[in-house]
Amino acid sequence: MAALSQDLPPPPVAGFTPMSRLYDKYLEFRVGNKKWVPRNYHNEYWGPVTVRFALEKSLNVASIDLVMRFAGTWPEGIRRTQDVARRLGIESPIGDDLSVTLGTSEVTPLELAAAYATLANGGVFNRPWCVERITRLDGLQVYEHTPSPSLAVSPQVAFLMTRLLQNVVAKGTAVRAGRELGHNFAGKTGTTNEYTDAWFAGYGRGLCCVVYVGFDERKSLGARMEGAHAALPIWIDVMRRARELYPAQFREFDPPEKVTALTVCEKSGLLPVSECYENKSVVEEYFLSGTTPYEYCDLHARFPMEPAEPPSLAALLREDRAREAAERPAGRIRRPHRVPQSAPRLDPRRLDWWDAPLLRFPHGSELWDDQAD
Ligand SMILES: [Zn+2]
Repeated sequence: MAALSQDLPPPPVAGFTPMSRLYDKYLEFRVGNKKWVPRNYHNEYWGPVTVRFALEKSLNVASIDLVMRFAGTWPEGIRRTQDVARRLGIESPIGDDLSVTLGTSEVTPLELAAAYATLANGGVFNRPWCVERITRLDGLQVYEHTPSPSLAVSPQVAFLMTRLLQNVVAKGTAVRAGRELGHNFAGKTGTTNEYTDAWFAGYGRGLCCVVYVGFDERKSLGARMEGAHAALPIWIDVMRRARELYPAQFREFDPPEKVTALTVCEKSGLLPVSECYENKSVVEEYFLSGTTPYEYCDLHARFPMEPAEPPSLAALLREDRAREAAERPAGRIRRPHRVPQSAPRLDPRRLDWWDAPLLRFPHGSELWDDQAD
């Protein structure tokens, strides 16, 4: 969410959109003399992905890529992430290393519920309270809670985040909630190492619910007991009942002003070409006004507008020989050139994606474990 905000001081790297491209690939960090390789849940890499897809699939490595790039300078990205978390009412200590993106900082279910409720509430944060009012038997009211709302994130960023989390329910790790309750919900699963904790946090327009499953001590819940298996079914039960009681709280989320809906290619995040439609890879996505993409899809286009492939060494040598042969005086015998093996052919588009130098951890910090989700 910190990365989506465009109202940041002008950084070396501009804010991200839901369709910005991240690189989910092998990364390694040196921490002291140890190596740390962040991993995804299924130990696989997806290559170039959109922010939306990374969230949908809970890709740890892409999240790290996001935080490493969105602020440009270390440790500005982490500071901004912490800042947004504080404004959303997270009071528990938040780590100051890259693992913060993977949710390694421990929070209470109440804190998390307040943070997600802020998104449901269009970016307005209210500190949770239990007692609404106290009235004496004789009718005198002795206490009434006065909320003190504060704007934690802009309504536009809250809405984009809700759209992204709706996608998690529609297609991602919480797809079961989408199937059973429809798509006016947004949410996110969470799992820790060795399945010690399972989470699901989700909300409709006027109601938020967080389910935490775990033991008092750090003990595994059992194999494959991730958020989607352990916590999500409970959440679905609660929300199904809640929807019967408060149907008005589950209407569709209305887009605020200053956001723009645009049809884009789901894979590349760019304007669709006809091949994107043929591949059924077209979605409608919202952007902060002024941040919509203006380039056309470079993944599906049959004739992509990309730099022409440079001629191979062999082709250049062949040309040379042809020229020499043409200029050669007749009758003179020459030893033929040995044609070398042609240079490996590389797709110039892929070069950008894969051959960036390995990113190194900027400075020493404690080694953390990679998180499953
Ligand atoms: Zn496309």
